[in-house]
Amino acid sequence: MGKRYADVIVDISHEQVDRPFQYEIPQRMQETLDFGMCVEIPFGNGNKIRKGYVVGLSDKCNWDPAKMKAIHRIVVDSAAAQDRQIKLAAWIKKNYGATMIQAIKTVIPARKSVKKVEHKKLILKATREEALDALGQAQRKHQVAKARLLKELLNEGELPYEWVTGKLMVSAATVSGLEKAGIVRKEIITSYRNPVKRMESEEADKKLSDEQTEIVREVTRDYDTGNRGTYLIHGITGSGKTEVYIRLIEEIVARGKQAIVLIPEIALTYQTLLRFYRHFGDRVSVLNSSLSAGEKYDQCERAKHGEIDVIIGPRSALFTPFPHLGLIIIDEEHEASYKSESAPKYHARETAIYLAEITGASVVLGSATPSLEAFYRAKQGQYRLFSMTKRLTGGALPQIYTVDLREELKSGNRTIFSRKLQELLADRLAKGQQSMLFINRRGLAGFVSCRACGYVAKCPHCDVSLSEHRGGRLLCHYCGYEMPSLKNCPECGSKYISGFRAGTQQIEDKLKELYPQMRVLRMDADTTKTKDSYEEILTAFRNGEADVLVGTQMIVKGHDFPNVTLVGVLAEDLSLSVGDYRAGERTFQLITQAAGRAGRGSLPGEVVVQTYQPEHYAIVHAGQQDYLSFYEEEIMYRKMMQYPPAAHMLAVQLFGRNEMETLQTGKLLAERVKGMSCPEESLRSRLQVIGPSPAGIGKIEDIYRFVFYVKHKEYEQLVQVKDMLEEHLHEGNYSRVSVQFDFDPVNGL
Ligand code: ADP
Ligand code: ZN
Ligand code: ZN
Repeated sequence: MGKRYADVIVDISHEQVDRPFQYEIPQRMQETLDFGMCVEIPFGNGNKIRKGYVVGLSDKCNWDPAKMKAIHRIVVDSAAAQDRQIKLAAWIKKNYGATMIQAIKTVIPARKSVKKVEHKKLILKATREEALDALGQAQRKHQVAKARLLKELLNEGELPYEWVTGKLMVSAATVSGLEKAGIVRKEIITSYRNPVKRMESEEADKKLSDEQTEIVREVTRDYDTGNRGTYLIHGITGSGKTEVYIRLIEEIVARGKQAIVLIPEIALTYQTLLRFYRHFGDRVSVLNSSLSAGEKYDQCERAKHGEIDVIIGPRSALFTPFPHLGLIIIDEEHEASYKSESAPKYHARETAIYLAEITGASVVLGSATPSLEAFYRAKQGQYRLFSMTKRLTGGALPQIYTVDLREELKSGNRTIFSRKLQELLADRLAKGQQSMLFINRRGLAGFVSCRACGYVAKCPHCDVSLSEHRGGRLLCHYCGYEMPSLKNCPECGSKYISGFRAGTQQIEDKLKELYPQMRVLRMDADTTKTKDSYEEILTAFRNGEADVLVGTQMIVKGHDFPNVTLVGVLAEDLSLSVGDYRAGERTFQLITQAAGRAGRGSLPGEVVVQTYQPEHYAIVHAGQQDYLSFYEEEIMYRKMMQYPPAAHMLAVQLFGRNEMETLQTGKLLAERVKGMSCPEESLRSRLQVIGPSPAGIGKIEDIYRFVFYVKHKEYEQLVQVKDMLEEHLHEGNYSRVSVQFDFDPVNGL
């Protein structure tokens, strides 16, 4: 056999080595080495052994044969990337900007190899009396560890072996002594770890409504005739979208294909999982952030080997390596969490559409408040649009009241609850119905300011205002910096310095003050630190253990509480005053979702939206639950300002320790972009460059942050801008400033 060569991407994320390096394939590997495999190679002058991925194979040597190095070995057990995963990585690198290795690591998330899991458990074999007898003996002989083990086994009957040696600190010798005496026995269980617990009941299929039937029929008909499109389901909450997803998956699975279902992690509740589980049993699996690397790897292996048909998970579940992908569903398509916040900053929606293109799958997007992007494209005919307008749960849409907080103040109400909200809260308490209060801040209070001179307490490292927490501390939510509360203003000495009080904790305190008998649960980042606390709070509320649930964003997503008939949205302006072009869209979505929580059962619901800007179009249209009118007004603004989706926008983000140097680099790069010529373009559609200016948060942990924006009608033009800047960065000496790209940014910087 002649010599063969492999192109390898080295596992070092640096622009200087961001290209394939050619290596000779030793004879002994020629049979086994394959595209996408993880290998070890000698790299650099010192021939240090590094890992890398094979991204090309050939018979041609493109390098001085005398200097050609050979592949050291194949990393066994590594998940070999499929051809199409490398293709996907290359697409992500091109369209979002990142090194190839970053892109490869994004599409092969569970690269880490783990041993096949072998669980051992220890089971009590002797009778209770015999065990009690042995326990007594051990205690008399002061055999502490043995006694501890027997006591636990008497309580539990059996224990995972890792516990025995770990938590209970019992030696292997002690265990084998008990084994010989016939008191305990070991048992080995080998299995793939499936994080979904088995459910008994099988759900009977519901009879689909006309709207549901049409969608299922149309999408499958397209699929069968070879048309693989993208579909957008605009359906109010409770209109039966999830039911449609389930039916579509059944159709696809019946055709021997597999499906990926993306659901934002925050909406991935046990309830939703159960619905899928009742239909697909152990052919469905879940990926989420609480799984270990090993568990994630197992899920990918199961998918690859055809052991499952459906995977449910957040953004990264998109990269599940199914052999015959047939369908990708993205629920709550408008969610900001579908955009990655670290490089490569890919969007799951666009990436899914490309993945579907190269695998021959269809894509179904669903939302009650579609993103402007998706709706715009649907209107242009790129996606097929379906609307679902009826609530299948029977309940009517809730009544929404918008309260002008300026009027409240004028009439002397200084509390954080408007009179309307107070009236309705008291009413629900009397009727024994539940309420939810929502705010998008956490902590006891927001920023601390001086009413005499306007001074605002800020974090010295992060350029954000500090938040007042219980116990008299001021905290930075970005870096954790803390300092004692201020008694006097450091600027002018005034004692009128205090917090802007509107956090979840403060709402809870105020509620208890106003309604002493009210039972309140609070859900925010502080009360949900542990893995299970989130589900625990929701379950307690669902079981009627509280009258009111107070919370941040996390309570408005996808939960179904039939007894909730009142939802209060407090100080919605906090999200409107965040100065970016998506503020209106976000506000509309938040109010709509909050409203979706009220009146899910048979009882009618009411919603109170408190605001300082009742005339803002996002709030007006949200009050009427009129998505189409909101869309028309919003898209006009986007077109006028050339914001996405009317045009495309690239954010070039700069980070550095030296403020001036970082800004200067930004200016220099922006100038280069301005100097780019687009010969074939008319003057009118030239690249627009805005900035650089300090980012929304100008500094975090002493790293300065600047950003400039480039706008153009064509995405491809912006890709060229990125390529030009990347090349320029390689050549120049910019080691002290790091640059990141964000296409059509969703999360402000
Ligand atoms: P969405 O995902 O749009 O919020 P769901 O699919 O969760 O809507 O449906 C809302 C409720 O209506 C659920 O309780 C679901 O079980 C029920 N449902 C959905 N489709 C039907 C149907 N065809 N017949 C009866 N009930 C249905
Ligand atoms: Zn002051
Ligand atoms: Zn800080």
